[in-house]
Amino acid sequence: MSKDRHPRTQAIHAGTRRSQYGEVSEAIFMTQGFVYDSAEQAEARFEEIGPDEFIYARYGNPTVAMFEERIATLEGAEDAFATASGMAAVSGALISMLKAGDHVVSARALFGSCIYVLEEILGRYGVEVTFVDGSDLDAWEAAIREDTRAVFFESVANPTLEVIDIEAVAKLAHAKGALVVVDNVFATPVFSRAIAQGADVVVYSATKHIDGQGRALGGVVLGSRDFIRGTLEPYMKHTGGSMSPFTAWVMLKGLETIDLRVRAQAASAQALAEALEGHAALSRVIYPGLPGHPQSALAARQMGAGGTVLSLDLNGGKAAAFAFLNAIKVGVISNNLGDAKTILTHPATTTHQRLPQETKDLLGITPGLIRVSVGLEHVSDLEADLLQALSAADQG
Ligand SMILES: *Cc1c(COP(=O)(O)O)cnc(C)c1O
Repeated sequence: MSKDRHPRTQAIHAGTRRSQYGEVSEAIFMTQGFVYDSAEQAEARFEEIGPDEFIYARYGNPTVAMFEERIATLEGAEDAFATASGMAAVSGALISMLKAGDHVVSARALFGSCIYVLEEILGRYGVEVTFVDGSDLDAWEAAIREDTRAVFFESVANPTLEVIDIEAVAKLAHAKGALVVVDNVFATPVFSRAIAQGADVVVYSATKHIDGQGRALGGVVLGSRDFIRGTLEPYMKHTGGSMSPFTAWVMLKGLETIDLRVRAQAASAQALAEALEGHAALSRVIYPGLPGHPQSALAARQMGAGGTVLSLDLNGGKAAAFAFLNAIKVGVISNNLGDAKTILTHPATTTHQRLPQETKDLLGITPGLIRVSVGLEHVSDLEADLLQALSAADQG
């Protein structure tokens, strides 16, 4: 399919493979394996797997291949590999490219499981990791060394929503020959230009906006054909983190509507941030689309939008945050994000509960902080809900 079509068009058509029945909606090839016409054909396929040939679902599957091609086209990446979860994507990308003795520089503000992979697992296998404040370019420059093999960061950090300058960090990393691995979940594929901005490898938890309806776990790694097929695929296919065909179908259907969903969610997030900014019960409204956000100009340049998530800091600390959550009527208390349903999270006691207090302090994960993943409900219902819950929290 022509590469110059709008991403919204690519998200609907790219990668489609039709069977002999000419089905409109993508077929779910719910098969672990594939039959060969002859022993000779089996032998040939094990020698070399052709472009639209498959031998075993851990190595590849037609429904999964449709998803991989569709998202690669959307992102402007040469290739993609779909994984069983976002963490299979993050761990696979890092472990497949690193070996004992390598050095990695990572932003400190990360999804909890990413910290475990970097600190615990990579450390155990002799990879040295230096953590930096991701928004401090001088810190990146000081930490990246001649033996640095990779840098890793979330382009928008969870839950405090600092935006990291992909282009600037990539320039520093590339000057030392290091690969740039970006966890781009909060930017979403709709607002991402990470490959064009210098990322070598982009990873997504497809569980978030790509599914967008809270149904399935999934992930994807995007990059050059050399990296995806030469480095990542051998690791993934032999260690078993591949995506199921059913999940790939859910994610294909998710991509068809992602542009509409994410733009609507981001517009609501922007409106809610503007409506809540300055509210007497809040010490901070954090949203990259607000002019007062420290990286608002960067967010506009890098993503063209503020994203679908905002964070609120309640003056009354944990008691106020809990009273607020318990008073919410439209949104739900949970810990996913990017869903059609608005989801509210108290990071300090859930997603980031296990972080030592000093790390929470360093990252700005205060007792009053609430993360709001804005869904697809009507924005006026969401605004009314947040405002009534804030007054309930104030009175409680
Ligand atoms: C959710 C998430 C992950 C992990 O994805 P799973 O699909 O839950 O494995 C990794 N990074 C970020 C930024 C996330 O939000």
